[in-house]
Amino acid sequence: MHGTSEQVLHEDATRAMTICNACRYCEGLCATFQAMTLKRTFAETDLDYLANLCHNCTACYHGCQYAPPHDFNLNVPKTLATLRADSYRRYAWPGFMARLFERNGLVVSIAMALSLALVLVLVFLFQDRAVLISRHVGPGAFYAVIGHNLMAAVAGATFSFSVLALLIGGRRFWRAIAPAASKPPGVGAWAKALRYAATLKYLGGEHGEGCSTADERWTNMRRYCHQFTMWGFFLCFASTCVASVWHYVIGVEAPYPFLSLPVLLGTAGGVGLLIGPAGLLWLKARSDARPADVDRYGMDYAFLASLFLVSLTGMLLLAFRETAAMGILLAVHLGFVLAFFLALPYSKFVHGIYRFAALLRFATERT
Ligand code: SF4
Ligand code: SF4
Repeated sequence: MHGTSEQVLHEDATRAMTICNACRYCEGLCATFQAMTLKRTFAETDLDYLANLCHNCTACYHGCQYAPPHDFNLNVPKTLATLRADSYRRYAWPGFMARLFERNGLVVSIAMALSLALVLVLVFLFQDRAVLISRHVGPGAFYAVIGHNLMAAVAGATFSFSVLALLIGGRRFWRAIAPAASKPPGVGAWAKALRYAATLKYLGGEHGEGCSTADERWTNMRRYCHQFTMWGFFLCFASTCVASVWHYVIGVEAPYPFLSLPVLLGTAGGVGLLIGPAGLLWLKARSDARPADVDRYGMDYAFLASLFLVSLTGMLLLAFRETAAMGILLAVHLGFVLAFFLALPYSKFVHGIYRFAALLRFATERT
C-alpha cells in the first residue's frame, strides 16, 4: 500500500509521461523518451524504470513549451528526479535505514565519518598512545598501528553488509521493473547495457552534446566528471583486490612501494576520485535549480563529499606514510572509508545500480 505522497509522485509522473507521449518533441533527446514511446499506459514500476533512465540533463525542461509559466506547469526532470530519489528509499534494504539519508545527508555522513575516526583514534590511544604517534616504516608498518586481523574484520564486516544490502536493493528494483512476460536479458542486451554504462553514453544525450545548462547551452562536463569518478572508483577497488592477493596469496605486507601495482592503481583511482567528485560538486553548485529536486541535493552532496574525502585522506596517507603522522592519518582515512561503506546502500551510490538495471531493461527491449 502506498502513502499519499507516493501516490502524488506517481500521479504527477503519469501526467508528465502522458503529455510527453502525445507531444514527443523530445523523442531524440535520451533513452527515457525512447522507452516512454513504447508504452501507452504507465504502471508505477514503469515510472520507476523511466525515472532511473533519466539522468537529469534538463534538456527537456529548457526546450519544453509546456514548462512554467505555461498552465501545464510541466517539469519532467524535476518530477523524475523526485520519483527517482523516492525509488531509492522504497527498494532499499533494510527499509528503515534508508530514512537516515533522506535529509541532511552531508551533515550525517561527515558526522558519521568524524565519529568513526574519533572512535578509532580513541581505541588506538587506549591501546598504546606511543604507537599512534610513532614513525613506522617497512612491510607491516600499518599493522603496528592497528592489527591486521582487527582491520580486516571491521572492514570485511562493513563491506559485506554493504554488498548484501546493495544486492538485495538492486534485486528488488530489477524484479519490480523487469516486465513479467518478457524473456531474461540475453548476451546482446547485457553487452549493450554494459557499453552504455561504461561510456556513460546517455550523459552525452542521444545527440552526444551532453547536458543542458541554465543558459541553454550544451556541455559534456558532467559526463567527463562522472567518468573520472566512476573509473577512479573502479581503479581503487582494483587496487584493493590486488593488494589482497599480494597479502594473502604472495605473502607481501603493505605498505607497498610507490611504483608497485596496488599503489599505482590506487594513486590513479585516487586522482580520479579527487577530480571527478570536485567537478561534480562544482557543477551542481552552479546548476539550474528550476528543473532539479533541490530538496534531495543533500544526498548528492553527501555522496560526492564522502568520495572526495576518502580519496583525499588516502592520498595524504600515501604522501606521509613514512612520517610520525601516519598513525593519525590511517585512523582518519579508515574512519572515512568505514563511514562511506556503511552509508553506501543508502547513498547516491545506488543510482549506479538502479540506472544499470534500467539500461538493461532498455537494451532488452531494443534487442
Ligand atoms: S518535455 Fe515538453 S516538449 Fe518535451 S516531449 Fe514532453 S511535453 Fe513535449
Ligand atoms: S532530463 Fe534529460 S535525461 Fe531526463 S528525461 Fe529529460 S532529456 Fe531525458
